Amino acid sequence: MRAIVVSEIHREWTLTQVADPRPGPGQVLIRVRYSGMCGTDVHLHRGQFPAKLPIVAGHEPTGEIVELGPGVTDLKVGDRVGVVWDQKGCGRCNSCQSGEPCPHSQTWMDLGGGNSELMLAWASGCALIPDGLALEAAAPMFCAGYTVMSALRNANPKPGERVAVLGVGGLGHLAVQVAHALGLETFAITGQANKRAELLALGADDVVVAADDPGKALLDAGGADIVLSTTSSAKQIGSIFHGLRRRGRLVNTGVADGPVSIDSFAAMLAFCEFRGAVPDHRGHLTEVLELAAKGKVKPKLEIYALERANDVRDRLEAGKVRYRAVLAHA
Ligand SMILES: [Zn+2]
Ligand SMILES: [Zn+2]
Repeated sequence: MRAIVVSEIHREWTLTQVADPRPGPGQVLIRVRYSGMCGTDVHLHRGQFPAKLPIVAGHEPTGEIVELGPGVTDLKVGDRVGVVWDQKGCGRCNSCQSGEPCPHSQTWMDLGGGNSELMLAWASGCALIPDGLALEAAAPMFCAGYTVMSALRNANPKPGERVAVLGVGGLGHLAVQVAHALGLETFAITGQANKRAELLALGADDVVVAADDPGKALLDAGGADIVLSTTSSAKQIGSIFHGLRRRGRLVNTGVADGPVSIDSFAAMLAFCEFRGAVPDHRGHLTEVLELAAKGKVKPKLEIYALERANDVRDRLEAGKVRYRAVLAHA
């Protein structure tokens, strides 16, 4: 099969022929159709992500199951699936025993990712894609969509609350749609005024354009109960904290470019919280896939052939991918 192999950091990835994998007990083999590109892929390229090389990246894969390993009974050949990051815990640690994510979980780094024609996955890491949801639209749900749904659910939104999304790119444009679909008043905060009409069309009730001090701009617009931050700018994350209303929650999903400075006195007086979120409960993935299947969450995609993985990564690194890039397998 053909696979995009990452052999060294800061080097071009290579399209290579490698042996077809065969599924072991509890595993499945997937013919990958689409594979989303995420910020993690850039971090991997820069050596900022602790993965052992060489490796096949791609943690937003969707496709069809072509072979079942021994003992797999729930999935069938032909099932349309995607694969989550944490595929299978060790089953023995305290986290596994209490149903929490396992620190020793099997991931794409163990079995290989979706930037290959065939991909091995643990059956427990596969999620069925609802009928009617295209595989390319489903791909970004497996990291970006899942992350924003977990971020929002972990902030415990209440009816009537306002959610502000800071950083409206790959994750943020899904966050705006998810918050709107859940019936929450939704603000989008962006540094680019030319995104206003698009963000309103995505379902934002209002768009706050602010480059330098998004916290002040949000406060001037009435503040928010929940801020869902997807930016990597530590300065912006520190600023947006000031845009929270009383008992507000700032949920961070971006890898910040430095330490984040929070005004602890303001946090104390207003009972505000700073939290982080990554893909959490599997029900959050199911929920965002359902919203996508109903057309309430529509990822805006740039689709490229697998051969263009290097160009796509460069575009992502340069901030040229407007929302989400997905690699298509022939
Ligand atoms: Zn990701
Ligand atoms: Zn475990």
